[in-house]
Amino acid sequence: MKNNRLGIIGGGQLGMFICIAAKKKNIKSIVLSESEEFSAKNFCDRYFISDFKNLNNLDKFIDSADYFTIETENVPISIIHYIEKKKKVFPSSKVIEIAQNRLKEKKFLNSIDGIKTTKYLQPKNFDDFKYASKNFNFSCILKSTKLGYDGKGQYKISKNNLEIFKEFDFNNFILEKVVDFKKEVSVIIVKSKENTINYPTVENIHKESILRESFYPAKISKKVESDAITKSFMIANQISLNGVLAVEMFILENDQILINELAPRPHNSGHWSMDACNESQYDNLIKSIFFDKLTSPQVIRKCRMINLIGSDYKKIESLKRKYICYDYYKKEIRNSRKMGHYIILDQLNS
Ligand code: ADP
Ligand code: MG
Repeated sequence: MKNNRLGIIGGGQLGMFICIAAKKKNIKSIVLSESEEFSAKNFCDRYFISDFKNLNNLDKFIDSADYFTIETENVPISIIHYIEKKKKVFPSSKVIEIAQNRLKEKKFLNSIDGIKTTKYLQPKNFDDFKYASKNFNFSCILKSTKLGYDGKGQYKISKNNLEIFKEFDFNNFILEKVVDFKKEVSVIIVKSKENTINYPTVENIHKESILRESFYPAKISKKVESDAITKSFMIANQISLNGVLAVEMFILENDQILINELAPRPHNSGHWSMDACNESQYDNLIKSIFFDKLTSPQVIRKCRMINLIGSDYKKIESLKRKYICYDYYKKEIRNSRKMGHYIILDQLNS
């Protein structure tokens, strides 16, 4: 097969799973990593260790592959534009640019008829911030517009901690109203040249803003399930998706859906698809890039995916005796760091 080389920007666990899926389809994977040690290192065919912004190395990386994808949206958009001048990126810079900036993302989402996010404001200074917080009944979150993940760059605001932000630089931050949600769910959409498919809605449990667990089937009504999927398709169409997009959502008490955020790549809440579906989100990402047609994934098991975060990782050896476990081969255990995950399967009709 010609043109069978995939360049992946970032080499974390998502990059690692992309490499494994690529190999199954005889696609060569080439990783660009900013750190010396990275999860995908032993799974890719080739790698470059370099600051993303080093153009000399970036040129070599671009020459080394035919198509490109990302495993993190936290890549300077100028780099994606640079690659796009020569080769195709999945998803395109347009999608990444929106999904990597909370403000652009919120404006984009709310511009779509029938799609809503929580309310948000852009405080310019401390007085503005105090006023905005009051507007949200002091129940809000200050979030960096860029480079956030796993709750990083976020501050919970209450009446008691306002003064801490007196000297704060509010540039590149938005203030979001806290959503009193009943559930969090997500939908993963994959779009190829010929068609668009979705994974069924999964339910997500976060603790301290980090995903702990995703399970299928989500405990939601058929109506909410279908609404979540319709909304995800509307977003994918409006953004002109190519590749994978994950849509994170809040379900309110009255079953209204607010979109939380978008991820322009495979998603932690889609890991379950590796073990409980005939084709995973990673398989379909590869197909969307190298093959024209996608087939709707078939779910073969009920599934719970549980993240091993920080010192949870110490349990991995004993968990391996009972469950399917995935090690991300990170050299060092750090608080809040995703180190691996495990999978609990059950019969569909149980
Ligand atoms: P990240 O990019 O770190 O995933 P998110 O905005 O998705 O950032 O926030 C992480 C988690 O924090 C969410 O999944 C949710 O559990 C909680 N959270 C974030 N924003 C809100 C909000 N406005 N209201 C209620 N919970 C929120
Ligand atoms: Mg999130």
